[in-house]
Amino acid sequence: MITKQLTKLLLASTLLLGFAAQAAVIKSMRFWQSPESTRVVFDLTSPVEHELSVLKNPDRIVVDIPDSRVTVDLSQLEIKSDLVKRVRQSKPPKEGVLRLVLDLTKSAEPNSFSLKPYQEYSDRLVIDLVDKKRKVIKPPVVDGSSNRDIIVAIDAGHGGEDPGARGPTGQKEKHITLELAKELARQINSVNGLKAVLTRETDFYLSLRKRTAIARQHRADLFVSIHADSFKNSRARGASVWILSTRGARSELARWLRKQETESELLGGVDTNLDLSVYEKPVAQVILDLQMEHSIQASLTLGEKVHNEMARVAPKMHKKHVEEAGFVVLKNPDIPSILVESGFISNPQEERLLKTSDYRRKLASAVKEGVIDYFKSHAPDGTKFANLYRKNVYHVKRGDSLIKVARRFNTSVSKLKQANKLTSNMVRIGQKLVIPSS
Ligand SMILES: [Zn+2]
Repeated sequence: MITKQLTKLLLASTLLLGFAAQAAVIKSMRFWQSPESTRVVFDLTSPVEHELSVLKNPDRIVVDIPDSRVTVDLSQLEIKSDLVKRVRQSKPPKEGVLRLVLDLTKSAEPNSFSLKPYQEYSDRLVIDLVDKKRKVIKPPVVDGSSNRDIIVAIDAGHGGEDPGARGPTGQKEKHITLELAKELARQINSVNGLKAVLTRETDFYLSLRKRTAIARQHRADLFVSIHADSFKNSRARGASVWILSTRGARSELARWLRKQETESELLGGVDTNLDLSVYEKPVAQVILDLQMEHSIQASLTLGEKVHNEMARVAPKMHKKHVEEAGFVVLKNPDIPSILVESGFISNPQEERLLKTSDYRRKLASAVKEGVIDYFKSHAPDGTKFANLYRKNVYHVKRGDSLIKVARRFNTSVSKLKQANKLTSNMVRIGQKLVIPSS
């Protein structure tokens, strides 16, 4: 009965050369929930082959694993998932094959792959279940007012099956980054005119491109990725701030232009800040080039401010200046982006510091101060920050008087005099007048 309804799926599996005789054991099962998918992880004693089938009425996924057995008590699983209701063992299709059934709450599209042992993890079989119905791309919310918040995308590095670096006492980078990102978001949101958006708020895996895509979807004005360093020498220490290298930028430009021929979120997509699809390729290249140059310059200016603020609270900075690398997560031609390495988790003292909420608060505050400082002088048009902090300066021309200038900028003579600390109504040609914000 079942076989007739089976939808065979591609299986990426490892051949068990030389290991075939020994049955693999599924010793535990873990679940990660992201906003649109569930990741199911089987922890194994050795790599396995597997076959997936999708069944309907009721929705379920059948996993067949030859030469395997399961030692975990399936009735006692802690299932953190919107999609998986329960996991049970079912009658094997033939001798020696382990058949597991994932009963689903609704239909989901599976994608599976194997992972090699890493840190404390052994061989793993991963099944990603994507809730297709929930994967609706929301149209970007454009705040058309001329007083919008500046959007700061905050990206907690790693997550889920990707723990990142690990400290001497076992502290995982993915947890440090999430705590720090949440603290930074809280502090950013407490500033009038700034609004934080987190790429992830819980413990799940996000690809690097997905992280920047989320930022772009929210029309972020700034992207801050949070990480913690590690090195084989445990004495290495110090926080650092990174921006995209020129080389990384160049290869990214080439990638965007290649993508221009296909669909892309930047070049003409729905949620784009920069629609290049209307231009001929050479023109698009020049525009993108300028945009990237601007983005890197902005990242550097911001990065320096954040670096200087962090130097006040961190026991040590790893380098004297902002550093450059080709990190994928920084490859945003349209969003100034920095990566903050909060310290070396591999260093016992810094691991201890990063574990304390007090230190994380100080570090987050330093990053926030750098962001505020940057946007006070570089607020995008139409933002609350621009209205609050941008000082419009007018150069007095021949024939100008204070009354004329006041009228032109919709202000009063007394406000002009106050803003410029003027004692008389006299102005001279070339004089700089600060125009008070209305
Ligand atoms: Zn990292």
